[in-house]
Amino acid sequence: MTQTLEPQAEPDATTPDARAQAWFAAFESALAAADGAAVADLCARECYWRDLVSFSWNLTTVEGHAGVADLVTENAARVAAHGFALTEPADEADGVVTAWFGFETSVGRGTGLARFVEEDGGLRAWTFLTTLDEIKGHEEPRGTRRPKGVAHGAFKDRVTWKEAREQEAADLGVTEQPYVLIIGGGQGGIALGSRLRQHGVPALTIDKHDRPGDQWRRRYKSLCLHDPVWYDHLPYLKFPDNWPVFAPKDKIGDWLEFYTRVMEVPYWSKTVATSASYDEERGEWTVEVERDGQPLTLHPTQLVLATGMSGKANVPRLPGQDVFRGEQHHSSQHPGPDAYAGKKCVVIGSNNSAFDICGALWEVGADVTMVQRSSTHIVKSDTLMDIGLGALYSEEAVAGGVTTEKADLIFASLPYRILHTFQIPLYDQMREKDKDFYDRMEKAGFWLDWGPDGSGLFMKYLRRGSGYYIDVGAAELVADGEVKLVRGQVDHLTESAVVLEDGTELDADLVVYATGYGSMNGWAADLISQEVADRVGKVWGLGSDTPKDPGPWEGEQRNMWKPTQQPGLWFHGGNLHQSRHYSQFLALQLKARYLGLDTPVYRLQEVHHLG
Ligand SMILES: Cc1cc2nc3c(=O)[nH]c(=O)nc-3n(C[C@H](O)[C@H](O)[C@H](O)COP(=O)(O)OP(=O)(O)OC[C@H]3O[C@@H](n4cnc5c(N)ncnc54)[C@H](O)[C@@H]3O)c2cc1C
Repeated sequence: MTQTLEPQAEPDATTPDARAQAWFAAFESALAAADGAAVADLCARECYWRDLVSFSWNLTTVEGHAGVADLVTENAARVAAHGFALTEPADEADGVVTAWFGFETSVGRGTGLARFVEEDGGLRAWTFLTTLDEIKGHEEPRGTRRPKGVAHGAFKDRVTWKEAREQEAADLGVTEQPYVLIIGGGQGGIALGSRLRQHGVPALTIDKHDRPGDQWRRRYKSLCLHDPVWYDHLPYLKFPDNWPVFAPKDKIGDWLEFYTRVMEVPYWSKTVATSASYDEERGEWTVEVERDGQPLTLHPTQLVLATGMSGKANVPRLPGQDVFRGEQHHSSQHPGPDAYAGKKCVVIGSNNSAFDICGALWEVGADVTMVQRSSTHIVKSDTLMDIGLGALYSEEAVAGGVTTEKADLIFASLPYRILHTFQIPLYDQMREKDKDFYDRMEKAGFWLDWGPDGSGLFMKYLRRGSGYYIDVGAAELVADGEVKLVRGQVDHLTESAVVLEDGTELDADLVVYATGYGSMNGWAADLISQEVADRVGKVWGLGSDTPKDPGPWEGEQRNMWKPTQQPGLWFHGGNLHQSRHYSQFLALQLKARYLGLDTPVYRLQEVHHLG
């Protein structure tokens, strides 16, 4: 009997999948040889490799062939990355092949996202993201690894979950020192505390407020989140699907309190850190705290300042503040509008807080004037949701398979150097869509900007953390003249007025300084010393050489979530998205140190500015 065999179809080497696989095969062998030049040859002439911890024990982006070659030469042998494999079929659109991949290193497993372009007759990497997900042998106890929760059987002296938790709480900080102390229990400290708990790293989060969530509760009463729910999830536990798109501040406060409890985050309320010092020899901090008024000394190995990028109030010093007879406070101290019905209120500043406060004061019938000192970028919330965030963070995105985790990685995969080029067209669309609104604002005398290069809100946030308003309604009050607008610099205060440099006098019963916040290394100066604050340097910003973000180019957010020049000192925070995503990488860096792994830091943060 003769058997005819159908010829086996050759896999199509021209599919995006096959081409990406071939690229990874070549990449893996060049990496195995620690051949920086060979890896660089696989990259486009314009290329960016962003590594979140997996290769560099740092958050770093290298650029161009020289940058890639350096990263490989310095790290590849130690990292021994291997097992690169596509985790879903590669995709091609507009001449760019996009590939999600997994890989292993000598210590962990990671995920990556690459974009390839055709160059010199082959596929070349254009943007390349590598991230560390877990440390081998120390995976988080989740999913199939979840704890059993019960010891079936019969035991003498059985210890229940509640008893164990109570014992742990009694020991922590007394007989057991936390390996990590997180000062600041806002969303940042809570998210990181939750991650470290999962990782089994002994950590303690402390906050001076009475209850977790109070940092949101204490803000002005009209405040709702400016970002939508899909962008705001905390790690591990997502908001339920009936959660409002824009959560009111007290609801977020309650969620943070509930989250802290159910995620078993070791957390001390009513605890203020008063000073900290580092013993280089012992590699240990001495942190003086007052817990419920009682002094106590803690000795963590790692100290995280999660004290808030919007926490260190910037209050201008103005002549006459001492003689002014009305009330004056920074926006962070503003209690809400109720006491000011019928009063003359002058709000200095024209960004988010200023608009929110002006709007709320107007709603109770106050006479409100906004003082605009510099230009402001405004986008309407609905427009921002539709055009700016919708593709990654929306119900439609989730339905289309873009989970929060995926969205975070897609976002992270866009190198900061070119992020503005992705943003500019979006903001052009927004400007066009709401042209009528912008025309009315300018007619009212409002000084608008779109960022120094037209790249809009998110770039302003990353570069300087200020200079914008997400309009949820109050801008119309300025356009209509319901909230009065004056432009200029404040010269001084009198007993009853704010006086501008041009002599304009604004009668005031209340002055609100909506004048923003200072660099987070100011917290280090307050708590540790000016010397340590200067050693660490400015926190936040990209080095874009745009207003309030001086160069040189950093490629990453300065000092955030990564090692600083001060051993054992870390900064954490940002918006809810950043708190969620970057706490993953900070937690893994802390865990690696807790486990005693070798963690040589590639390209440790340099210091170019003091604050
Ligand atoms: C008006 C306003 C609106 C905002 N809206 C949004 C939004 O819609 N979406 C979004 O994602 N972000 C928003 N942000 C930005 C950011 O998310 C918040 O500022 C957020 O609160 C930052 O969280 P955090 O944990 O980093 O810091 P914070 O929430 O500021 O928490 C820091 C904590 O540190 C504590 N602390 C400080 N010093 C000490 C000490 N020495 N000892 C003990 N505890 C200390 C404080 O008590 C505080 O609770 C907004 C910010 C402001 C000001």
